[in-house]
Amino acid sequence: MKVFDCVVIGGGPAGLSASLTLGRARREIALFDDGTNRNKVTNQSHGFITRDGIKPQEFKDIGLRELENYPSISFFQTKVLEIIRDREKKFIVKTTNGRKYVTEKILLATGIQEVFFIPSIRKYYGKSIFNCPYCDGWELREKPLIIFAEKEDQILHMTKLVYNWSKDLVVSTNGVEISKEGVQELQKRNIKIKSEPIKNLVGDGGYLQKIEFVSGETILRSGGFVIPSSFYRPNQFAEKLGCEVEENGAVVTDGFGRTTQKNIYIAGETEKSAPSSLMISAADGSKAAISVNTDLTMERF
Ligand SMILES: Cc1cc2nc3c(=O)[nH]c(=O)nc-3n(C[C@H](O)[C@H](O)[C@H](O)COP(=O)(O)OP(=O)(O)OC[C@H]3O[C@@H](n4cnc5c(N)ncnc54)[C@H](O)[C@@H]3O)c2cc1C
Repeated sequence: MKVFDCVVIGGGPAGLSASLTLGRARREIALFDDGTNRNKVTNQSHGFITRDGIKPQEFKDIGLRELENYPSISFFQTKVLEIIRDREKKFIVKTTNGRKYVTEKILLATGIQEVFFIPSIRKYYGKSIFNCPYCDGWELREKPLIIFAEKEDQILHMTKLVYNWSKDLVVSTNGVEISKEGVQELQKRNIKIKSEPIKNLVGDGGYLQKIEFVSGETILRSGGFVIPSSFYRPNQFAEKLGCEVEENGAVVTDGFGRTTQKNIYIAGETEKSAPSSLMISAADGSKAAISVNTDLTMERF
């Protein structure tokens, strides 16, 4: 059976960029992607220089087309189910279609997913409610916005940030009370705080129109930002392979994508288990790929 130099799991910006670097370094690699990238819910991605406003699928298609120039890269559109270390310390990668692939090194770039505390928010997430003002603040500028968050430090941080794009802000904590000082800080900018629980979000085709509270009150808003309750790695590959993880969920690395387990590398949002951006994830992927190639070079020279 063919032994790949490296298997890259995840074809988001981190995995695509890692694959490009490794292909150009003439490494035999297999890239797997199952099409569950976090931003697939949105129409446009912003802030990636030369690609501002691109559709997420188009970004992926261009990335995959560029990889076709490098014959040592194999791409598989399938889900990786399991990674096992065999007796020779190689990795066996098992996919949903029942196939097995053998590799010397693994680069995890499988991203993260978010958990929400607001009912029906997924209908609007990516269309008129977003997580990152740097990504989508421009499109929502000067609109009547709502900020959904449940922890005081996050509420204050996000609200101050979004105030740069729109001064017409309401904060909804969905039942969580914030301190008197916090309330005063926002009120001095005429920002209202609604702490009553939300009954439902109402809108059309993903575009928010109003928020209904359990109290019966409704307020009109045309979009906003949310801080999800948490983020998680859906597959837990890093944990299952014994990589050390910090209390905050970040995988311990040397800062260049090497985990605490030999031959296992990590890049993109899955490394920190926190949201970032296409540009930052792509850079992380390239950095981790350079580590993979450096290690292969030094081990084999
Ligand atoms: C609504 C929304 C809007 C956004 N807008 C922007 C924006 O405008 N600009 C910007 O810079 N950023 C934006 N982002 C953030 C951006 O999407 C992420 O920062 C970026 O996608 C992270 O890249 P990544 O490669 O780490 O992970 P992802 O892009 O999530 O890629 C991970 C990949 O791994 C694959 N995968 C996962 N598990 C498996 C498995 N078991 N087997 C095979 N494949 C697997 C998935 O299919 C996926 O393609 C937005 C995010 C959201 C949610």
